[in-house]
Amino acid sequence: MPSKVLIVEDSRSINSLLVSKINEELHIDVESASSYKEAKAILQERSREFFVAILDLNLPDAPKGEIVDYVLSKGIPPIVLTGNMSESLHDEMIEKDIIDYVVKLNLNEIDYVVSSVKRLRENVGRKVLVVDDSKSSRKFLSALLKRHYLTVLEASDGYEALELLKKHNNVVLMVVDYNMPGMNGMEVVSKVREKYSRHQLAILGVSGIGSGKIPIKLLKSGANDFISRPFMIEEFYCRVNQNIDAIDSYTKLQESADKDFLTGIYNRKGLFSAGEKIFQNAKRKNITMMAAMIDVDHFKSINDTYGHDMGDKVLQHIAKVLKQNLREADIVARIGGEEFCLICVNIDAENSEKVLENHRTQIMNDPLFLDGQPINVTVSIGYSISLSSSLENMLIDTDFALYKAKKTGRNKVVSFREEKTKN
Ligand code: GH3
Ligand code: MG
Ligand code: MG
Repeated sequence: MPSKVLIVEDSRSINSLLVSKINEELHIDVESASSYKEAKAILQERSREFFVAILDLNLPDAPKGEIVDYVLSKGIPPIVLTGNMSESLHDEMIEKDIIDYVVKLNLNEIDYVVSSVKRLRENVGRKVLVVDDSKSSRKFLSALLKRHYLTVLEASDGYEALELLKKHNNVVLMVVDYNMPGMNGMEVVSKVREKYSRHQLAILGVSGIGSGKIPIKLLKSGANDFISRPFMIEEFYCRVNQNIDAIDSYTKLQESADKDFLTGIYNRKGLFSAGEKIFQNAKRKNITMMAAMIDVDHFKSINDTYGHDMGDKVLQHIAKVLKQNLREADIVARIGGEEFCLICVNIDAENSEKVLENHRTQIMNDPLFLDGQPINVTVSIGYSISLSSSLENMLIDTDFALYKAKKTGRNKVVSFREEKTKN
């Protein structure tokens, strides 16, 4: 996948504003040219590096938008910028395979372009499902969506669509035709809504002109949006983008509700939603699993000595150390003030001890520094590898082991099983 953005714009202020916004806000590599000639020099050698080009229609050496066809011939989809409100120019450009057409009025349009670039990049890997019985119409819709780097799945009827949704659990948008044999669009929408809410999966209904009450039916059965054929491609893209943005903000909001604001790792809620899946899976498939409770020793005195803000920094540092040693399937959470929880899968007793000893010594030996001085902290860890009736009960066991670790001197790892057999 190409990773860069090409900007061809002779206005210095707009050019540098786009460069800085795309580069600094989105961390995307940018190359810029201020003329047709310069752009050609870049593209002749390295056209494969760019996933989108932002093009000014009026360049000193190409005043009639010649740059657009050139960039298209290199296989790069362009966002076209113009200072001109001309309808005929607009119509002419929209006929081409461009991403968007933007009239430069003020900063707002620059931000619009930047957010389009961001969306395009994030579209890579986003799945969209097109449901339409007509092959030509399916291909047409698919091509439009693919131009925006979306991954497109196609179904020729409702049954196939439901099967595809079962296989692909992360489809963000479904474009569904109303008139189909077997299940009509409205029936497909209500079936899909039994499993996926309108915040998880957006549905854009499509139907022919003069379709009477069909839009209402589709919307009432759970479609997020509707467009009637024949539509203007620009309108189609506006609706697709708005729906994808809505799903995206909802997903981000959901994710942030599961995260701890201080350390960025899971919070208690996140631990239970992610941990419960791991726990159930381990039970079902007889996979080994370990849960550990990690509590900072005498943390109160860290706050008392260095202040609460520095205490926060120490917690962030500990989260970072814990995260560093994590395997992909493992999770770590901050579930109380200075208490962390770790869940690891596919791990036996011996390795659990090793992994946790490693965490303990690393936290002790790799402290945070304040003005060149280390802020020394240690942690006590209690863990369990016996899957009890629920994750919650397993965590009660680890709490018990942690309590023992605290009671018997702190800065140590104690297993729940050891404690049970000893007592
Ligand atoms: P022990 O070794 O027995 O665990 O002693 P402790 O002092 O760590 O435990 P205690 O539970 O008595 O005190 C925890 C302290 O952690 C008290 C509280 O002010 C502090 N704390 C809790 N949450 C935060 C936080 O988000 N930031 C900071 N800086 N301190 C916190
Ligand atoms: Mg503590
Ligand atoms: Mg505590």
